[in-house]
Formats: sequence, structure tokens, C-alpha cells
Amino acid sequence: MRPLVDLHGRRIRYVRVSVTDRCNLRCRYCMPDSGIEWVPHDQIMTYEDLYRTLKICIARGVEKVRITGGEPLVRKGIINFIEQLNMISDLSDLSLTTNGILLGPMAHELKQAGLRRVNVSLDTLDKKKFSYITKVDGFDEVIKGIDSALDHGLSPVKINVVAIRGFNDDEIPRFAGLTRTLPVEVRFIELMPIGCITKYPEREGINASEIKDSIELAYGPMVQLKGGLGPAKIYQIPGAQGRIGLIGSLSEHDFCGACNRIRITARGHLRPCLFSEDLVDLFTPLKGGISDQELEGLIEEGVRRKPPSHGICRGMVLVQEGPRTKMSDIGG
Ligand code: SAM
Repeated sequence: MRPLVDLHGRRIRYVRVSVTDRCNLRCRYCMPDSGIEWVPHDQIMTYEDLYRTLKICIARGVEKVRITGGEPLVRKGIINFIEQLNMISDLSDLSLTTNGILLGPMAHELKQAGLRRVNVSLDTLDKKKFSYITKVDGFDEVIKGIDSALDHGLSPVKINVVAIRGFNDDEIPRFAGLTRTLPVEVRFIELMPIGCITKYPEREGINASEIKDSIELAYGPMVQLKGGLGPAKIYQIPGAQGRIGLIGSLSEHDFCGACNRIRITARGHLRPCLFSEDLVDLFTPLKGGISDQELEGLIEEGVRRKPPSHGICRGMVLVQEGPRTKMSDIGG
């Protein structure tokens, strides 16, 4: 097997694939509530084309696939797609990122289809604040979704919390405290300049180190555990059942040097880095009937375009005017 290796010597083992740009929430930092131009269905990658692309990536050494969106659970046929991916023998990790709204009723089917684990996004433990930030009254559904995922053995269940000053900074200890009694990993993520956040979030952003201090003030020193290759630094409150992940996407992005992932957007672009606009169009050539060998060449080209680091730094303005970056291009 010839692995996919980028120009900086990093071996690609992880693909995040966005299956839709649509979402059933309107998180304020992520999507505007009006004026969204959804990508027409015929311009979204079909499951067949996604499968073909992922099969080649896996044949070239990708071991992990994460399904994301938009909200992946709103796309029809998602269970079947997961079932098919799960049958690819060299794929060792199949996971999904969801807002949890539809997770309760779907957790059983997802597990049966072969999904191993799930990340659920939840930025507040307060029902009213949930409705404010997401513009939907869905807090109870998400909580049921998390319980259902745990009940059906999707493991580990990770809860993604985007830390936003003035919105949920006061909830950091409470979120962290969940891990004392629940076998979940609560992951705090720094607010990033994507979606509706067009510049480096100087004021609303909270650094991973500040989050750690806030947790340790409440529970005492945490133990650092060995993490994976991903961006999260993993900690545990002594005696806790679960773990805490701190993702310093902006303040501590030394993990770029070990980044092993690429992304495929809902409209079929290979995005070599979350912040990169240097995309490779797979959709048009796939529609034009390219061979597997040609598709493999395009994937290699995308990998070659992977920058050494995301390069986002304080004071940076990503988009001042003009069209907003679309979530379908970003994926989770
Ligand atoms: N709908 C799914 C969900 O809610 O998990 C998957 C897609 S969503 C875009 C993936 C993750 O990106 C969510 O955890 C969301 O909170 C996070 N996200 C969106 N915009 C962000 C931003 N500006 N900074 C940090 N995280 C962001």
C-alpha cells in the first residue's frame, strides 16, 4: 500500500466528510438565520461518489472517517451510507459529529449500522440559552440524544463545547463536572474564524489555557492523559469517570505539525486544511466519469496542497466583505 503523504512528510490517516450543507439548527456563530443559499441537491456529492472517493482514500492508508455536515443526520439515506462504509475492512474508526437533535431516535440504528462513536455539539446546559444560541427549542432532544448514544453503546460519546466569552464561560466548571459521573469526554473548543465569525475572535474567544484554569479552580489540578494524534490535549479530574479535552485551535496550534487529516465538503471539494481555500474539485470530474486512477490522482493533488500550518493568528480578518464562507465548504 502506498500511503498518502503530504509535502511536509505527514501521513494522511483521517478524512472528515461533510454529507450535507443543511442543518436543523441556526447557531449564531455558525449560520445566519436568513439569506442562506443551500447548495442544490444535484450539486451535493452523491453517496456513491463519496463512497468511491473514501474507498480510494482507505486503500491508500486512511483509517478513520468522520461524518459531519451541516447536520449529517438530516440527510436521507445516512444509515445506509454508514452501513456501506462499515463494510470496508481496512476502516478502523467510523464516527459522526451531530448536533444531537435527531440522535435519540436514531442512535440504535446508527449503532446497528456500524457507527462506533459520536461527538455531540452542545454549548450550554441551560435550556433558555440553548434556544438563544441555536434559535431552536431543542435542548431536551439533545440531552435525550446523548443518553440514547450512551445507552446504545456508542463509545466514547464526546460533547463538543465551543467556548464563548459572555455566553458560556460561566458554565465551563459545570460542563467539566459532568465527567465526574458520566463516561463522556467533554471537549472545549476555541471559537474559530469560520462560519459567521469572520475575524480572529479576540474578545469572544477563550483560550484553552484559560479554560483549564477555570476547571482547576473548581476541581483542583487535573491529570494529563496521553492523547491521540488529534488536536485535543486530554485531562481528567482525579477520580472522574470521563475525560476532558482542550482544543486550542488558535492559541496552541502546534498540532498542525502532526495533522493527519483532509476534508471532503458536501459539494465535493477536497479541502486540505480547515482554513485552506486551496480546494481540489472532485465533484465535476466525478460527474464527468473519471476513472478510479484519475480520482486517486486528484486526491493526491489535494494532499500535496496541505499547508504546513493553518497560519491563523491574532488580528486576522478572514472575510471583510463579499460572500460568506459556506458551512458546506467547512464541514465539522
Ligand atoms: N451539525 C453538526 C454539529 O453540530 O456537530 C456537525 C457540523 S458543526 C459545523 C461541527 C462543529 O463545528 C460543531 O461542534 C460546531 O459547534 C463547530 N463550529 C461551528 N462554527 C464554529 C466556530 N466558529 N468556531 C468553533 N467551532 C465551530
